[in-house]
Amino acid sequence: MNQHRTEAAPSGWTPELPLRVPPPLEWPLRPMRILRYLFGFPGVYLPWAAFYALLAAGLWKLLLATGADLTVLSVRWVGMLLGCNLVIAACFYSAWHFWLYRRRAQGIAYKYNASWPREDGTHFLFGRPLASNVFWSLSSGVPVWTAYLCLTLWAQARGIAPTTSWSDSPVYCTVLMLALPFFHAVHFYFGHRMIHWAPLYNSVHYLHHANINPGPWSGLAMHPVEHAVYFSGALLLWLVPATPLHALYFTTLVALAPAEGHCGFGKVVIGETRLTTDNFYHYLHHKYFRVNFGDSLLIPIDRFFGTFHDGIRRVPRRGD
Ligand SMILES: [Zn+2]
Ligand SMILES: [Zn+2]
Repeated sequence: MNQHRTEAAPSGWTPELPLRVPPPLEWPLRPMRILRYLFGFPGVYLPWAAFYALLAAGLWKLLLATGADLTVLSVRWVGMLLGCNLVIAACFYSAWHFWLYRRRAQGIAYKYNASWPREDGTHFLFGRPLASNVFWSLSSGVPVWTAYLCLTLWAQARGIAPTTSWSDSPVYCTVLMLALPFFHAVHFYFGHRMIHWAPLYNSVHYLHHANINPGPWSGLAMHPVEHAVYFSGALLLWLVPATPLHALYFTTLVALAPAEGHCGFGKVVIGETRLTTDNFYHYLHHKYFRVNFGDSLLIPIDRFFGTFHDGIRRVPRRGD
């Protein structure tokens, strides 16, 4: 089960340890810290979630401009979204990879693992980790992403999934947009734990964990069954009233967030700007394997189940 975990991991940069629960879950509450955490730059929403929302708005405008009839699953608009998603994913993941790994714009500054990922590996498709990761991301990840998106848009248009509108419920729609990253964090934890069950791990999730020293393209490199689980959070929008923009935003966020989440750097340096990535939490999952199943947004889920690793040691559940 753990046979691929052989790549050396010379220690590189680490954030301030031990990792702590995010400000909204600290006690006593510190309102300014919470506001900075949520709405600061960088924060939960800026810049990336806002960027994903802008992409979603662009896709929605495109659907409207082309007069797509969402009540019918036609090749025309489904194919258009598949093409757009392919271009978006290829450009977004390539940009992260180019800056950090191809151009090596900041060398190993803020890199968790001081060595660069190997360029060959027999346990990867084609024997090439990067080619394998790109292949699984684009040939399986993007179609599964698009399938969940199109089915959700279709279900909303047909009245199968409940809908609302920004003009009728602006506050509700805004709160739902802000809540979706947290919902994704909850869904990710339980889906991720499920595929760590040995039979599923050995047949499905092993593929993602072939990446011991991950880079951006490792993020969406998953087995098709894992993609089906990973994107299934979109089914929430079949249960709660939402708009097409929520569906476009949620699926874009789920599809693109793994680039940052697996980039392997704690900060991205662009000119004078140092953009904190907040992904050391998931890096520890790739390093230690049976810890930190969730997202750093909601560390308490891992704490509750005794799977939290604070960067120094695994933190047992209270009473363990
Ligand atoms: Zn895992
Ligand atoms: Zn991962």
